[in-house]
Amino acid sequence: MLKRQEGKCNWCQLTFLEDDVIEDDHIIARKAGGNNSLNNRQLLHKHCHDEKTRDDLKAIKAYKQEKEWQKLTKWFDNQNWEWVDDIPTLVVGGRSFSPLSRRL
Ligand SMILES: [Zn+2]
Repeated sequence: MLKRQEGKCNWCQLTFLEDDVIEDDHIIARKAGGNNSLNNRQLLHKHCHDEKTRDDLKAIKAYKQEKEWQKLTKWFDNQNWEWVDDIPTLVVGGRSFSPLSRRL
């Protein structure tokens, strides 16, 4: 990995020095859906890694929200919807439930 990066930190682009603390980073954090392959790994200074981790946390949050959203839209897709009076209406057991209906 050091060779691939030409001895440079991928975050600050500075060349690693002998007494620098170097850490192995997942480019896309594992918790944000990144894999463990070498293609998803890079070497960073420890202090650069700390900086990146802050960004990773944002990415992880966004990734989780995206996952939740996918789950939600999948659930909606699996429901039986029909349009009644230009309103998307959920049909359950032959009865329709409009979001504007008082029965809901
Ligand atoms: Zn660095």
